[in-house]
Amino acid sequence: MSDSKSSLIWFNGEHVPEHQATVSVLSHALHYGTSVFEGIRAYKTHKGTAVFRLQDHIQRLFDSAKIYRLKQPYTQEQVEEAIRENLRVNGFESAYIRPLIFAGNVGLGVGSAQGKNCEVMVASMQWGAYLGEEALEQGIDVCVSSWNRVAPNTLPSGAKAGGNYLSSQLINEESHRHGYAEGLALDVNGLLSEGSGENVFLVKKGKLYTPPLSAGILPGITRDTIAHLAKRLDLEVVEQNIAREALYLADEVFMCGTAAEITPVRSVDRQQVGAGKCGPVTKQLQTAFFGLFNGETEDSEGWLDFI
Ligand code: PMP
Repeated sequence: MSDSKSSLIWFNGEHVPEHQATVSVLSHALHYGTSVFEGIRAYKTHKGTAVFRLQDHIQRLFDSAKIYRLKQPYTQEQVEEAIRENLRVNGFESAYIRPLIFAGNVGLGVGSAQGKNCEVMVASMQWGAYLGEEALEQGIDVCVSSWNRVAPNTLPSGAKAGGNYLSSQLINEESHRHGYAEGLALDVNGLLSEGSGENVFLVKKGKLYTPPLSAGILPGITRDTIAHLAKRLDLEVVEQNIAREALYLADEVFMCGTAAEITPVRSVDRQQVGAGKCGPVTKQLQTAFFGLFNGETEDSEGWLDFI
């Protein structure tokens, strides 16, 4: 993540320099992972800076907090406005935005955070393509991870909770150690799930396939955006269980997320996918997606929230 040191952070209702936005080493979240967060992007568009799907991200943030019964004192609208304000005070035209709700120094009992108000912060930073600019064009090499995604009724994958990212770190670190850009995990049943920080789509004979929410995935907002854009492009999207080998036989594979945007996958486990570069359907979706920001794709859903 790039330098956020000089930027202001919204912390419990006020904008403060980063060095003042501090927490105790006894924070509950630090010991037990008691936090939920979002990753959001603001784009410089033809009509000014806009946060992409702000309300949907903040809804998911509050849903994540609800799953864990984390209390905090702000409304969704207040957090949304804190984000717009944070971009304005920092003068960012585009940014990666990180809101976080976490249990602070409430005592070290596992149950100490229950019923207490959490702390809330919003940070913004300048951040380019997560997997590299080149990756958006040429694609990345990924492996199937030896780590499975979290199982149902263990840690809910539908919550974007800090603790879930221990699973992501295992997947991502292993992939890097073996020379890949990213890892794709299977779920506890051995079916395709998602990457460490991205959902995944396969293209076969012109149709799009993606794992269902029951496959241990985060319900990605980019995944949902792609489903909408695909419909507009007359591309069928099938949400179904996907076997590992389908990755090797796909015409195209791509990963998607707020950070990763739409990143083609050129090989899986060193087997070339399709032509080994960004395929035509992936390209079509990338063009439609980035078109939302340069005005070539109509924002008919009202996804752009101008600051
Ligand atoms: N899965 C995981 C595990 C993620 O961390 C992310 C990034 N938030 C995604 C999928 C993609 O979600 P979104 O498109 O909402 O960023």
